[in-house]
Amino acid sequence: HGSSGAVQVEVPGLKRATELRNMIFVTSEVAPWSKTGGLADVLGSLPFALAERGHRVMVVAPRYAPYDGPVSTGVKVTLMGHAEVMYFHQQIRGVDFVFVDHPSYPRPGGLYADEHGVYGDNQFRFTLLCLAATEAPFFLDLPIPPQQMDPPRPTSTSTTSTSTSADGNGSNGAAASPAAAQQHHQQQQQQQQEQEESIPRSKYGEDVVFVANDWHASLVPVYLAAKYRPHGVYRNARCIMAIHNLRHQGVFSPGSFASLDLPGHWYGCLEWQYPPHQRQGSWAEEGRSVNHLKAGLTTSDRIVTVSAGYAEEIQTYLGGWGMEGIIASRSPVLNGVVNGIDTDEWNPAIDPHLPYKYDTTNFVEGKAQCKMELQRELGLPVSEHIPLIAFIGRLDPQKGADILLEAAPQLLRHNNVQLVCLGSGNKDLEDGLRWLEGEFRDRARGWVGFNVPLSHRLTAAADILLMPSRFEPCGLNQLYAMRYGAVPVAHKTGGLRDTVTDFNPWGQSGTGWTYTSCDAQGLLQATGLALLTYHNHREDFRKLQLRGMTREASWDQAAQQYEQIISWALMDPPYCR
Ligand code: ADP
Repeated sequence: HGSSGAVQVEVPGLKRATELRNMIFVTSEVAPWSKTGGLADVLGSLPFALAERGHRVMVVAPRYAPYDGPVSTGVKVTLMGHAEVMYFHQQIRGVDFVFVDHPSYPRPGGLYADEHGVYGDNQFRFTLLCLAATEAPFFLDLPIPPQQMDPPRPTSTSTTSTSTSADGNGSNGAAASPAAAQQHHQQQQQQQQEQEESIPRSKYGEDVVFVANDWHASLVPVYLAAKYRPHGVYRNARCIMAIHNLRHQGVFSPGSFASLDLPGHWYGCLEWQYPPHQRQGSWAEEGRSVNHLKAGLTTSDRIVTVSAGYAEEIQTYLGGWGMEGIIASRSPVLNGVVNGIDTDEWNPAIDPHLPYKYDTTNFVEGKAQCKMELQRELGLPVSEHIPLIAFIGRLDPQKGADILLEAAPQLLRHNNVQLVCLGSGNKDLEDGLRWLEGEFRDRARGWVGFNVPLSHRLTAAADILLMPSRFEPCGLNQLYAMRYGAVPVAHKTGGLRDTVTDFNPWGQSGTGWTYTSCDAQGLLQATGLALLTYHNHREDFRKLQLRGMTREASWDQAAQQYEQIISWALMDPPYCR
């Protein structure tokens, strides 16, 4: 696992893992129950790939609404001294989905914010999630799925005992000890055995591995180290911090530390002083804050991000959002694992949202039909020969929607193309989409809103998908686009540079176009190349589409890389003891 952070797997394609693990993913969103972005998609699919390989997998998320499916376990636990949570559960294809029920989760607005801004109690809501997740394995006696019963599961596999070691490395050094030391050691062992009998045991195994996703779950490794391990609980557990987007860090006032149910001397673990240019919030003057993500990054056993490219960028001033120094200091345990996609949900041959299904044998005709159907639906001139260019994404400076709006007039004036944008978010950018549609009624549509069926139909109809993201941890739309035969044109950043390979007409390789100059000119130039190939080199363009459609994008590869990272985490003693 070299400097780029990419993880190599040695036995690709092996379906069942050689070492079976117990893992618990902690997340603020999981598709299809709750979704604002790619995080939900990852949590709604990676766990299945791991369970299929024989691992025992739990996903813990808030119960934002009374979902169909998950049923009450009847288990109620009081956390943080006053908050009573209840656990709901549904086992699907071997994955235990556990939903934490508490009155603070359901909201009339979004998951994290409404039109007035982010909710004032988000710190409490997600601290509660972390504690509910670490407590869940003690209280929930969930049935073991059939595919995970055989062979018998290892309990402490390759882990190193960390409890008694005097040298802190988990080795007891008994062979070289004199007799007195040996006797002392035996006494210690006996005491420890007595203690152990009174320690609560996780029903998900002692060497359970938590995967804490983004800032919302960042206190999981902190609680493991501060609340449990000192009492002999979760001694062999590990925690991997998964970063899907470093932009959001869970930043609160220093005084809020008192509400986190942590020993006072842990304050320093959470405290974060932003450099002057990055100060935000009402405590900006002194720059001091409590930062949940920082605490997770400094206490977790390993760190994973959603691409090797992003793993590099977050160690730099431009991509680190203030955390670059901390992340760089942990680069030996930092890896990038590119997201896969749900190949059942995103499969043009069976996609229920598409008017015409297609696969690699008939995609030219299938996509033309989908395009004309969408043109009819949106009231655009109907012609299979006009290239259809799409943009789908949150309307946020991250996604470069403003760059797209700047480039669009030039693109639309000088080319006979159609541009369809689907997105919601920033109000100015939403107005921008409406303006674009008003200005170019015969060739542009700006669909403001969150519409999953339309995102499928648009991806199927599009010849080209634009991703002008300023930064992109992984990006899913380019993966969906390639699978649907829409050729991505993307800014060369993060996961986009790892997943979109540049078209090379001489070697007939590549799956799209990337550009380095993150502005309207860069986007226009790259889109121009794509259009040139579309019009003048039809056969090359078809081959490009085909390479995208057949490229490996399933979760199995990522699941194997996670296994590798989990093995590494278990090989070392816990990072924070
Ligand atoms: P992020 O998580 O940063 O928003 P990703 O590319 O990782 O970006 O994932 C975004 C997900 O949300 C994709 O599944 C994308 O199709 C979906 N999405 C974003 N905006 C919309 C929208 N307006 N309508 C439907 N789906 C959307």
